[in-house]
Amino acid sequence: MSEPRKPLPRPAPESSPYWEAAKEHRLEMPHCRACDGYWFPPSRTCPHCTSSDVEFRPVSGQGKVFSFVIFDRVYHPAFAAEVPYVVALVELDEGPRMISNIVGIEPDAVRCDMRLTVVFDDVAEGVSVPKFKPA
Ligand SMILES: [Zn+2]
Repeated sequence: MSEPRKPLPRPAPESSPYWEAAKEHRLEMPHCRACDGYWFPPSRTCPHCTSSDVEFRPVSGQGKVFSFVIFDRVYHPAFAAEVPYVVALVELDEGPRMISNIVGIEPDAVRCDMRLTVVFDDVAEGVSVPKFKPA
């Protein structure tokens, strides 16, 4: 029997620049040229001012834990070997918040406001997922 496989990201037109950057181990966020705002997840217009003058811009990859949960049940068989793992709402220094995993630390040691830096998990050929580790 083959091992269960993790589901892979399926980029939409508005999120494909994010995934293309991640593939090259760069974290990029949607940015508005009109109001200088960042946001996530990607959309065709700026949620701050509704401008459609938007671009993707590299961000620092630095941030902090805004909130988190520890998954200690197996919800998908492909993740069985990783339980327990942390799913967090990460607040980037540039402002946007994104859902990700905290890695490189025991789940019980994760705390809100803990400083983080991005790392990239090469999950499949040509697919990298941004995750975060303690800074
Ligand atoms: Zn804007």
